[in-house]
Amino acid sequence: MRLLDDIATVTRPHVDGGLPGPRSAELLARQGRRESNARVYPRHLPIAIAEASGSFIRDLDGNVFIDFLTGAGVLSLGHNHPALVRAATNQLSQLTHGLDFPTPAKDAFTEAQLSMLAPELRSRMKVHFCGPTGANAVDAALKLCKTATGRGDVVSFQGGFHGSTHAAMALSGLVAQKEPVPNGMPGVHFFPYSYCSRCPLDLSPDTCATNCVSYLERSLQDSHGGIPLPAAVILEMVQGEGGVVVARGSFVRRVRALTRALDIPLVVDEVQTGCGRTGTWFAFEQYGIEPDVIIASKALSGVGVPIAFIMYDERLDTWAPGAHTGTFRGNQLAFAAGAEAIRIIRRDDVLGNVRRRGEQVGCLLTAVRNHPWVREVRGLGLMWGIELADPRDGRPASALAGEVQARALRQGLIVELGGRNDCVVRLLPPLNVTAEVIDIACSILVDVIEECRPRTGT
Ligand code: PMP
Repeated sequence: MRLLDDIATVTRPHVDGGLPGPRSAELLARQGRRESNARVYPRHLPIAIAEASGSFIRDLDGNVFIDFLTGAGVLSLGHNHPALVRAATNQLSQLTHGLDFPTPAKDAFTEAQLSMLAPELRSRMKVHFCGPTGANAVDAALKLCKTATGRGDVVSFQGGFHGSTHAAMALSGLVAQKEPVPNGMPGVHFFPYSYCSRCPLDLSPDTCATNCVSYLERSLQDSHGGIPLPAAVILEMVQGEGGVVVARGSFVRRVRALTRALDIPLVVDEVQTGCGRTGTWFAFEQYGIEPDVIIASKALSGVGVPIAFIMYDERLDTWAPGAHTGTFRGNQLAFAAGAEAIRIIRRDDVLGNVRRRGEQVGCLLTAVRNHPWVREVRGLGLMWGIELADPRDGRPASALAGEVQARALRQGLIVELGGRNDCVVRLLPPLNVTAEVIDIACSILVDVIEECRPRTGT
């Protein structure tokens, strides 16, 4: 048997032979027989994972990959950060599950989370711990806003993604996920997002007056606009699953001004953008707005132990006891790891690293900006996307994106796809990723995109 380096000391990816290797193939085949047809990641990334550390994953066949999927943005400090593992392990022998009772671990976590908000916001925010997924927290936010306003309709944005439960799916743009499931939650109205590179009016971002948001403004202010005053407007600052579309500042500020003028709670879905991903603790901070409700989950524990919450303006706290229950709302391991994650993020200036490494990614990816099939390279902090499209008609180049993903994997880099027809190659590195790992990953990606120049079609 081949001797493998300790995964914690690995500094480069390496892949021997084809993928999947034989041991991975065996597990993938067994998974295919046993698990639902809805399984998704291993279809495009055909590996079975043995172990991981920091930015690296090893599969069962000994191949090592740079992981720029990081559990869909969950592992903010990389795989198995030793301090977070220690915090969770220590907690394991004290208390693991606490329903919604107060505990020292929860108290410290809540304190740490609140300390990341600006003082004025902190002083009026209440916290509700939800079931441990983003979608459950989205549901909670909706229920809260409906209860507080007595209204039933909701405004969401095209291209947005808020989860896969019935209500969260209803708020999401992804039509293919909804079509097979009749009788979705009614009363959701979709408006255009500021997706400048696919502006329906073909306006240049330099000269446009954010016409997309005018449509929402007019509809909600028009006595014949067709939409009753909604209970909430839900918004991502960067549409992650939608293809890393970064909202324009004027768009977000006008949505905030409108919702404030009409007394509509503004819910920011920071499930993916939160906990430092974009270079500030929450992405909304960069837009100079204050939301009424913040939704967070994925990276709250920093190490993948699940947990989710909403934070909301206390004036919305019209809930009766038990209004949003859930058995798994007191994961003490997540609280312990999450408080430790915040300590480390502060100690190591991880947010500074996000900004610096983000700039590095932006610079390195300039190498593909002029590639004819690269429609746009965009990102904020450590959330990046390369949109691929046919230069002749702008159609999403999905097959090409799939080819880039597959070839990158064979070179030892795991990347995700997103956006319209999965035509955006997405990077979600750990927030503490090193400059060296970014260099290696971007050079793989740039080479692969160069190699994949299609001659005709996608
Ligand atoms: N909101 C956003 C912005 C997301 O990106 C996601 C998941 N990708 C969700 C909600 C749903 O989170 P979960 O999968 O934990 O339900």
